[in-house]
Amino acid sequence: MSRVYNFSAGPAVLPEEVLQEVAAEMMDYNGTGMSVMEMSHRSKAFEEILETAEKDFRELLKIPDNYKVLFLSGGAHHQFAAVPMNLMKNGVADYIVTGQWAKKAYAEAQKYGTANKIASSEDQTFSYIPDCSDLPISENADYVYICENNTIYGTKFKTLPNTKGKELVADVSSCFLSEPMDVTRYGMFYGGVQKNIGPAGMVIAVIREDLIRDDVLPGTPTIMKYKTQADAGSLYNTPNCFCIYVCGKVFKWLKKMGGLEVMKQRNEEKAALLYDYLDSSSMFRGTVRKEDRSLMNVPFVTGDKDLDAKFVKEATAAGLVNLKGHRTVGGMRASIYNAMPKEGVEALVAFMKKFEEENK
Ligand code: PLP
Repeated sequence: MSRVYNFSAGPAVLPEEVLQEVAAEMMDYNGTGMSVMEMSHRSKAFEEILETAEKDFRELLKIPDNYKVLFLSGGAHHQFAAVPMNLMKNGVADYIVTGQWAKKAYAEAQKYGTANKIASSEDQTFSYIPDCSDLPISENADYVYICENNTIYGTKFKTLPNTKGKELVADVSSCFLSEPMDVTRYGMFYGGVQKNIGPAGMVIAVIREDLIRDDVLPGTPTIMKYKTQADAGSLYNTPNCFCIYVCGKVFKWLKKMGGLEVMKQRNEEKAALLYDYLDSSSMFRGTVRKEDRSLMNVPFVTGDKDLDAKFVKEATAAGLVNLKGHRTVGGMRASIYNAMPKEGVEALVAFMKKFEEENK
């Protein structure tokens, strides 16, 4: 068996321990004589999996009792629609556009009400986070929306925007469980799990109970109503059972590693290895304003497209894969989520140094 160092932005690397456990339980989960993929979502065994997953997730993020945790099928794209459908009570919301995902969410929200773009960093290819200390928040805004970590551009909100008393809604897909969060600052946040937590095809949404309403936008499909899934304990429809099971294992792994404070420290150390090298290199450079750099997604370029392509090709041959940047940015991007070991980042930096030396 030979594992590569996988720098994919998502679906992405998972902890080896988790993968091994899943493999070991594939033919017989806990004496049931079947895999989790084959069992009823109403079975005792699955009920326990779901309950334990929620309990561990709540513990990791210190989620207060007045917030519901929903395991929702589909991707973050579903939430681009579900958020305005469920939360636009006055029909108005403010969006801070810091990348493609926020832009898509903003475009989707316009279908359901008045969505205002109150700040953007598109003028400089989303390479920074705009000043959000005194934004023109709409008087009747139901929420202010952000994408907290911008997967494609490699920026992160280091301080949350001043929403002037309005509810904050955040897409945390690419920074989910990478560091502690103050849950009480948000009305709701959600993330696709395929980056830091598990396989693709599911979102975990955390929403304060008073925001879960019956009188949502007329025409909202039953399955898209948060109240439907909140009332049914995420079991209104057949959920993504296998994904919940794997996420549950990742939560156990995170707890064993020491929780989110420890993950934050580890992630800071890993990111520093790469950023410090980028800052000292005369061939590679990071593309993001320093103070806004993400701990999870690190885009970089040489400034020469052919050299970028050569780098990606040779890195792949050396077992460092999925380093090609997003098609809208070019260059390279290393996604270094929780499950990327420090050795993976060290191997990448060593390879970059060697490449720089050989291609002077
Ligand atoms: N939001 C962010 C921050 C992302 O990185 C992605 C990436 O894949 C998405 C949303 C879209 O997720 P999905 O493809 O699961 O809908």
